[in-house]
Amino acid sequence: MPTIDALTFDLDDTLWDNRSVMQRTESGHYAWLDEALAAWLTQRSETPRAGFTQRFPLESFVARRQQLARAHPLRRGDFTWIRQRALTELLMEYGLGQEDAGHWAARAMERFMALRHQVEPYAEVDALLTALSQRYRLASITNGNVDIARLPLGHHFPVAILAGEMLAPKPDARPFLAALARLGSRPSRALHVGDSWREDVLPAQRLGMRVAWIDARDEGATRLPPGVHRLGHVSELPALLARLD
Ligand SMILES: [Mg+2]
Repeated sequence: MPTIDALTFDLDDTLWDNRSVMQRTESGHYAWLDEALAAWLTQRSETPRAGFTQRFPLESFVARRQQLARAHPLRRGDFTWIRQRALTELLMEYGLGQEDAGHWAARAMERFMALRHQVEPYAEVDALLTALSQRYRLASITNGNVDIARLPLGHHFPVAILAGEMLAPKPDARPFLAALARLGSRPSRALHVGDSWREDVLPAQRLGMRVAWIDARDEGATRLPPGVHRLGHVSELPALLARLD
């Protein structure tokens, strides 16, 4: 087996626990919009109306996003676009003109992105990436909308791929190939680290990359395909790399 010279990392639920981040972000920005909008409408002394989230509870926002993702299959991985478009539609149905709806959707998305980037990487991650970057070239590949450059961890990744916004979300092979090309590596010399069987393990393995599968939820296939290694946590990665060396 050729020596590994490049590592690609999934972000959400690989380098941090993303569930709590998303819950906080989802309810936080929606509540912010509700309040800010009510204050703005009062200021304009518009006739009082039901609050925005009273009229469109969080579930209807979720349903609208799902509907948009189905209607625009190419955009299904571009969560930022889907969210902003869904908000604009709901705001217009709430009675705002197109321009105001667009404005408030954009402001809510700024709030969303600010909260979305309040992630807490696992305690070991910074030191881990510092050590690994001495030896390997590192890239991040995410379907999510975290811009790693906005996080303190960003400096570890000379290459960062936002696969959803490339309109080629994982399991599409293109984000992996783009990352490896930009790192000057190739699949046989690279290892991908990720938590999703469908979006990380299978596509990377099919390309001929080796894979460290973070199976935190222990949802495990019992027999792993060749080149796939199961880890309980990303902190176990150096030991695996030492074994593979
Ligand atoms: Mg993930």
